[in-house]
Amino acid sequence: MAWSRKDYYLKNRDRILAYNREWRRKNYNKARSRERVYRDEVIRLWNEYLTEKLGDPVCQICGRILTWMGYEQDKTDSVHFDHRHGPGKIIGDRPNNWIKSRKPTPDNIVIFEDEDFGILCLNCNICLPTNNRKDWVMKVLQYLEESEE
Ligand SMILES: [Zn+2]
Repeated sequence: MAWSRKDYYLKNRDRILAYNREWRRKNYNKARSRERVYRDEVIRLWNEYLTEKLGDPVCQICGRILTWMGYEQDKTDSVHFDHRHGPGKIIGDRPNNWIKSRKPTPDNIVIFEDEDFGILCLNCNICLPTNNRKDWVMKVLQYLEESEE
């Protein structure tokens, strides 16, 4: 059978992970700066892909003009991907973290597209509850109607 990097990794996983952890501990600054370079590259590639596919992002609720992902902490004007169809199938609670730690390979793009994320600004994302959104909005409307006059 041909040698495969994946098989080798799976067989030696614990040893490799322990080695990497130790290397990272001893070379913390170098490791951090390598990770940052990698992350910036990942973000750049996704932003390029998203711009080409969808143009400039706009918040789907308030219409605010946004930018794709930021290189540092995400700001109000960077996109917050929202699990509009409920909990993610593969991508967990923090889509931006998932995206920022993986390159947009064909496989990852399929996973990303499959989640069909909503595009929201930070404010609209914070306002929406995670579950039972329609129910929540109806209650807000009812509250506002009762508050009129
Ligand atoms: Zn918004």
